[in-house]
Amino acid sequence: MEKTIPELFGSLVFSDKIMRDKLPNDMYKALRKTIDNNTHLELDVANAVAVAMKEWAVENGATHYTHWFQPMTGYTAEKHDSFICPVGQGEVIMEFSGKELVKGEPDASSFPSGGIRATFEARGYTAWDPTSPAFIKDKTLYIPTAFCSYSGEALDKKTPLLRSMDAISKEAVRILKLLGRDDVTNVLTTVGPEQEYFLIDREDYKKRKDLIFTGRTLLGAPAPKGQEMDDHYFGNLRTRVAAFMHDLDEELWKLGIPVKTKHNEVAPCQHELAPVFDTTNVAVDHNQLTMEIMKKVAEKHGYMCLLHEKPFAGINGSGKHNNWSLSTNDGENLLNPGKTPAENTQFLIFLSAVIKAVDEYADLLRLSVASAGNDHRLGANEAPPAIISIFLGDELTGVIEAIEKDEYFGKVEKVKMETGAKVIPHFTKDTTDRNRTSPFAFTGNKFEFRSLGSSVSIAGPNIMLNTAVAEALSQFYEVLKDVKPSDMDDAVHSLVKDTIIKHKRIIFNGNGYTDEWVKEAEKRGLYNLKATPDAMGALIAEKNVKMFIKHGIYSETELKSRYEIRIENYTKTIHIEALTLKDMVLKQFAPSLAAYIDDLTESVLQRKQLGIDVGCDTQTELIKKLAGYYDEIIKTTKKLSEDTDKAEAMDPDIEQAKFYHDVVISDMDEIRKYADAAEPLLPEGYLPYPTYEEMLFYV
Ligand code: ADP
Ligand code: MG
Repeated sequence: MEKTIPELFGSLVFSDKIMRDKLPNDMYKALRKTIDNNTHLELDVANAVAVAMKEWAVENGATHYTHWFQPMTGYTAEKHDSFICPVGQGEVIMEFSGKELVKGEPDASSFPSGGIRATFEARGYTAWDPTSPAFIKDKTLYIPTAFCSYSGEALDKKTPLLRSMDAISKEAVRILKLLGRDDVTNVLTTVGPEQEYFLIDREDYKKRKDLIFTGRTLLGAPAPKGQEMDDHYFGNLRTRVAAFMHDLDEELWKLGIPVKTKHNEVAPCQHELAPVFDTTNVAVDHNQLTMEIMKKVAEKHGYMCLLHEKPFAGINGSGKHNNWSLSTNDGENLLNPGKTPAENTQFLIFLSAVIKAVDEYADLLRLSVASAGNDHRLGANEAPPAIISIFLGDELTGVIEAIEKDEYFGKVEKVKMETGAKVIPHFTKDTTDRNRTSPFAFTGNKFEFRSLGSSVSIAGPNIMLNTAVAEALSQFYEVLKDVKPSDMDDAVHSLVKDTIIKHKRIIFNGNGYTDEWVKEAEKRGLYNLKATPDAMGALIAEKNVKMFIKHGIYSETELKSRYEIRIENYTKTIHIEALTLKDMVLKQFAPSLAAYIDDLTESVLQRKQLGIDVGCDTQTELIKKLAGYYDEIIKTTKKLSEDTDKAEAMDPDIEQAKFYHDVVISDMDEIRKYADAAEPLLPEGYLPYPTYEEMLFYV
């Protein structure tokens, strides 16, 4: 009999329930303590867990285990070892020890380390993260792990993420204690990422070198129809797409990923999937898995799943909305405005901490979403602008303004609590004004950071967010720590007011797509870091380095390594795009164009020989036009080739990244301009690869 969904859900996860069933009670309790309170894991507990994990994994068909980690590439990495252990006489048993569970030593010399491993130690170590559950995939037991160097430098994205979660928890708990909340021992950040993607036919994909090598199309004229009819958004699902989505849901449910929402997106062939939120590190792991499983299931259905931020010019690209909030160990959402006034004070503190954090560290938030791919979206009237600002909505903005003008606290010393309830009307969810143009929007009981590209690991943006808010809370703590409990309300109110006055420039409820906003933001002194090379400096800016060190998130060495890796990743991406475009132009597009010119010329000549003049003039005109394009395409490609060589010869630093951005990308745009103008003049059959029309409208 088929499994019901509740039976299916998490069936491949070494869940809490399975741990409870399989572990001796004292061992289970010790492990639970480690997970809940971040305490050290003793070896005897690790041994017991390893035995239980192996038993469960083998029962469920696993033969191997792997320490699954997230190097600084933004992807995940794994190396598989089998459980077998020879015991003589040609026999084996299945074995797995606590030591093997807790620590791995992958030969990791080929992962980017930005110089860390050269300076320190060549080896990388993986260490079990017991707060993210192990799972089985393709007959292997996956153990989520952090990845560090011998001397403890983080070589991955999970380690700093876990550090940032610790930091914000520590700061939030301290603040809550001042507010009399002794019950809170731990504060978690929660994240629900909405994931956009494209599905195209696998056969089409295989014919396009640009999609294969770069994930996006480098050439391609628009189809007669785009997304202007808005007929795809939330449209009914085609049978084949529905079958894919159904399969995907099931695969993800088995892995304990609570995917809930799915629908068609704005662009043709574009879709979205969203899970129910989870603690941040679990959400990060789940999102990485989701992206991977999407691609696999797509293949099974004859599709290719495109996660690039801008696979097709002229139609919307794909992003990822990072819904973020704070929750106590009892599951109370600290960004819930709530019904009772006491909660409002608490809410206002956390709200103003976020406002302060986003204003002071907007450069880091911007950096965390910067990539060659996402540069095509941010500020391009389909995604939030590159300028980071906060949308609060009318109701909350009213509250903030009232506080600022003392209309709220000033006149009502005695009954301020009641007033609190009045000015924060009881609302659970702000559905009236959903401003889609804002990069960072308050949506009722959480913030939605909307600037993320579809392929990015959500670890980075959440590290920045957690740390910046931890820093704001830590500064609040300094202001409030010596205040007597009886004066606390007043102290909090003036702190909130001061914070609003100082940071309200970051709040913007209008349309972020307009030129007026760009001008206004400049007047307000907000960052407008247009492209990735402009954003990169934030990683090594003094104020940011100071903050990261203070909270123990990154050391200076770790930051410098990330800075180098980010630059290298950017330049390599553009370099590969340039080479791919050159290849496609010289081997595919230009020859197709030349072939058509030749065919036309031949036909004109033949007719003239026969004394037939009809059409000869118009065809000659067309030949001239096409030959003109051909010339320009070859010339600009030659320039691209020379500039790419120049770029490659430069020292690997920010100047090189800027050169790729300013020169190489403009060359590519120039080629594309001519090629995309010529393409609609080519009859069907001349191009060796599918057009936009064929890729986007026949799936
Ligand atoms: P949208 O209308 O933008 O699609 P939804 O209300 O569907 O927004 O929610 C989007 C995501 O926000 C979901 O993944 C949901 O689980 C997540 N979410 C809801 N509450 C929280 C929270 N407290 N913390 C983090 N994410 C949350
Ligand atoms: Mg959303």
